[in-house]
Amino acid sequence: MPKTTTVLLHVAFDRAARLLRAADYGRGLNPAQWQTLRYLARCNRFSNSQKALGDYLAATKGTVSQTLASLVAKGLVLKEPRQGGGQSLFLTEKGRQALAADPALDFLDKLDAFPTGDLKNLLYDLENMVLPSLAPDAAAEAFGPCRNCAHLEMRAGRKPKFHCGHFNVPLKKKETKNLCAHVSPRQQWLD
Ligand code: SF4
Repeated sequence: MPKTTTVLLHVAFDRAARLLRAADYGRGLNPAQWQTLRYLARCNRFSNSQKALGDYLAATKGTVSQTLASLVAKGLVLKEPRQGGGQSLFLTEKGRQALAADPALDFLDKLDAFPTGDLKNLLYDLENMVLPSLAPDAAAEAFGPCRNCAHLEMRAGRKPKFHCGHFNVPLKKKETKNLCAHVSPRQQWLD
């Protein structure tokens, strides 16, 4: 039998997820549409494909196609041919503006009030212990910023200093903070 604290943590996670999803109804979009806009605002240039979006949302191909079709029809998302095949997804200006009314902003403001050290510890535990145990497969587990990734190389004295060994391209510092669908987990975070 799990410990009482473990059970209560599960209740807290479950309840938080339900409340966040409930808040996502309204303001003209549904939860899957809001999650898609957020993902496209946060992912890097290697991860803005329909396949990566589906892995991130843990949603079926049909659900992702339907969600994207409605966002494209609303003028919030744009599809463009991708080098090497497939399509890249981008937020339009209207899509970026829509995120100013994101229902999750209230929750983010409340979290933001906690001390940074506490937030980092919570994030570390969630990324390293909770999410890997929930992800159905490696593709769903892989998402994270470059600091979690064994492919990130720091090139002292070079500009830009960051380099992706997986795609063999330089990375701007701000790009290293975006979500990537190709993370190879490293043993320790970089700060
Ligand atoms: S270093 Fe890792 S996380 Fe960053 S872009 Fe490359 S593969 Fe993605």
